[in-house]
Amino acid sequence: MDVASGESSMGVKRKGARMFAEGKVKKDMEAERRSYFNVQGETELHSVVFDKTRNEWSCDCKFSSMKARECSHIYACKLHEKNETRP
Ligand SMILES: [Zn+2]
Repeated sequence: MDVASGESSMGVKRKGARMFAEGKVKKDMEAERRSYFNVQGETELHSVVFDKTRNEWSCDCKFSSMKARECSHIYACKLHEKNETRP
């Protein structure tokens, strides 16, 4: 299994914080029930969606779908949201 290599939970947060700091997170669209983001990862662009009604994040990367938990892209988007909503 090489899918999760380098993706320890520490790594997820560190990678997410770095992507956010480097401006790799772009909000694509804000809908009534969902927010859409694009995150430029190391090799490809990922689509992250936040479902406001269920308070759930999802990402199209392998890590997120196989592990069913937060990947670095989702973490980066969370930082982006926190930052944006700060007064
Ligand atoms: Zn992801």
